[in-house]
Amino acid sequence: NNVVQIRNVSRSYVLGGQQVNALKNITLDIEDGVFIAIAGPSGSGKSTLLNLIGCIDTPTSGQILINGQDVSGKTPDELASLRARTIGFIFQTFNLLPVLSAYENVEYPLLQLPEIGKEERDRRVRYFLEIVGLGQKMTHRPNQLSGGQRQRVAIARALAVQPAIVLADEPTANLDRKTGDAILELMREINRTMKTTFIFSTHDKRVMSMADRLVRIEDGELTALGVQKAPGEWAYVK
Ligand code: ADP
Ligand code: ADP
Repeated sequence: NNVVQIRNVSRSYVLGGQQVNALKNITLDIEDGVFIAIAGPSGSGKSTLLNLIGCIDTPTSGQILINGQDVSGKTPDELASLRARTIGFIFQTFNLLPVLSAYENVEYPLLQLPEIGKEERDRRVRYFLEIVGLGQKMTHRPNQLSGGQRQRVAIARALAVQPAIVLADEPTANLDRKTGDAILELMREINRTMKTTFIFSTHDKRVMSMADRLVRIEDGELTALGVQKAPGEWAYVK
C-alpha cells in the first residue's frame, strides 16, 4: 500500500520576475511504513517536496494522493483536517512554543482534534513523552532543555496525533553528531515499533545511510531512487 503517491508534480515560484522551478515533474510512490530519506544539496527542492506532501503547499501541476485521497480536490478546511490527523511535522529548528512546557507543546496539536477527550489527551501526552525519554521533564520549558531534548519533545508532539506520516525537514541539522544520531535512532525505533512512515530530508551522508529508502533530488529533479537491502547494500531502481 502506498501512503503517498506523487504524480508528475512540478512546483515553481516566481521570485522578482524570475521563475524558479523548485520541483520538475516528480513521480514517486512511498510505501506504508518506510523510513525514507530525501537527499540532495541545499536548494535542490527537498523542503518544497516535504511541504507538498504535508499539504502546506500545493503543486503548480500534477497530483498528490495521501492515503489514496487526491488532495487537490479538497477545500482548505478539508485539507487542514486531513493534515491535523494524518501528518506530524518535525523541523530542524524544533519550532516549539517557548512559553509552553514540554507537556503543553505535545498537547497542543491534540487540542485541534475535538474527537479526542481530555483523558485520552493526557494519556497520549504522557505516553509519548515517556517514549522519547522525557517522562521526568514534562514541566520543563524549551529553554530548560538541551537541543536533543527539544527535538525529542518535537518528536513526541508529531506522534501525539498518531499520524500515518511523520515529515522531518533536516531533523538533525542543528544537533551535534552524537545527539543527531540518537535522534535518528529514536525515529527509527518508533518507525519499527509503531509502523509510522517517516519521510525526512538531509544532506548528511551518515543520516542517509540510516534510511531503508533513498530519494535523491538535484536541481528539482528526482535523480535516484534506492532501496537498502542490507546494511550498506543499496539497490537503485532509478
Ligand atoms: P532544499 O530544501 O533542498 O534546500 P528548497 O525546497 O527549500 O530546497 O528550495 C528549492 C528552490 O526553490 C530553491 O531555489 C529556493 O530558492 C526556491 N524556493 C523555495 N521556496 C521558495 C519560495 N517560497 N519563493 C521563491 N523561491 C522559493
Ligand atoms: P545533552 O547532554 O542532552 O546535550 P545538556 O548537557 O545540554 O544535555 O543538559 C544536561 C541537563 O541539564 C539536562 O537534563 C537539561 O534538562 C538540563 N539543562 C540544560 N540546559 C538547561 C537550562 N538552560 N536550564 C535548565 N536546565 C538545563
